[in-house]
Amino acid sequence: MRNQNVVVSYSKSGMSMEVPGSYTSTARISGWVDNMRASSPTHIKSHTLPLDHSPSNVQHPSALDMFEQITNSSKGKQIFMFMDYDGTLSPIVDDPDQAFMSDAMRATVRKLATYFPTAIVSGRCRDKVYSFVRLAELYYAGSHGMDIKGPSKGGEAILFQPATQYLPIIDEVYKALLVVTKDTPGATVENNKFCLSVHFRRVHENKWAELAKQVGSVLEAYPEFRLTQGRKVFEIRPTIKWDKGRALEFLLESLGYANCADVYPIYIGDDRTDEDAFKVLREMGQGSGILVSKIPKDTNASYLLQEPSEVMAFLRRLVDWKRLSLRKQFMLKARVEGIKIPLPI
Ligand SMILES: [Mg+2]
Repeated sequence: MRNQNVVVSYSKSGMSMEVPGSYTSTARISGWVDNMRASSPTHIKSHTLPLDHSPSNVQHPSALDMFEQITNSSKGKQIFMFMDYDGTLSPIVDDPDQAFMSDAMRATVRKLATYFPTAIVSGRCRDKVYSFVRLAELYYAGSHGMDIKGPSKGGEAILFQPATQYLPIIDEVYKALLVVTKDTPGATVENNKFCLSVHFRRVHENKWAELAKQVGSVLEAYPEFRLTQGRKVFEIRPTIKWDKGRALEFLLESLGYANCADVYPIYIGDDRTDEDAFKVLREMGQGSGILVSKIPKDTNASYLLQEPSEVMAFLRRLVDWKRLSLRKQFMLKARVEGIKIPLPI
């Protein structure tokens, strides 16, 4: 059995994929397959024990255990919530088109957004992730942050799409991936508008090397694209310097929080691509990065939550904490001013 304190390192994945012309080398394919095994939820489940919440796991403690520390750090600041979708608000399921969030999670996120600006940051197409979440009051950053839109709030909605010049070629790469993967049972290619995903959630493990080679063969012809691996998915996107971390910075800036000490961003995500956002928070020295994972990982996040159910518990506590804080403020104000004022809901 694997040691429960094992740290899965993204850097051990053999994913140094920036060198064109070698995507189909044996060493590269082997590295991809190793990473596919390491990042596979079912593989992890069969080999590991639940996350250790004991004090010995001090490097990345549970965000639930450290809730008071997080809220104390945010005192006097505006919390801004950023959340990934797949594996964070919804469970990872075999069919990516069926990755629905529960009604309870939706209700929780809806309440959350009444107290804090809230953004969903996903690798999926923005329209697709909106069709899952269905909350118009949120900000959405699809395609790994390359397609950003906010609620209109009576005026023009924030809209930012830094990779529009890639749209025709993305369609070309999409079609090429459909052709090369068509004979691999279970492989599905998803067009996320500004990036592409090749899901291998339903591909048998003995076909993973073959699939990695197929995807690599396409990327060799398109050096302006790069590949990263997520949980049971290959992510293919333009090599522009834009990622979930840049999307986080862009949204903070758009809402007037650039270089501002009065904001406390909380970013929750489960994937390698979320590391870009965790890194931004570390460099800012503000906010909290929370990795969703059943096992400790080599991460830039500060805290861990095990799975979407724990994410929901954390979000509910935030809502309750904020509601209570507001009530206390109102009651104090009423006492000081000697007037009766209605309590907030
Ligand atoms: Mg995810």
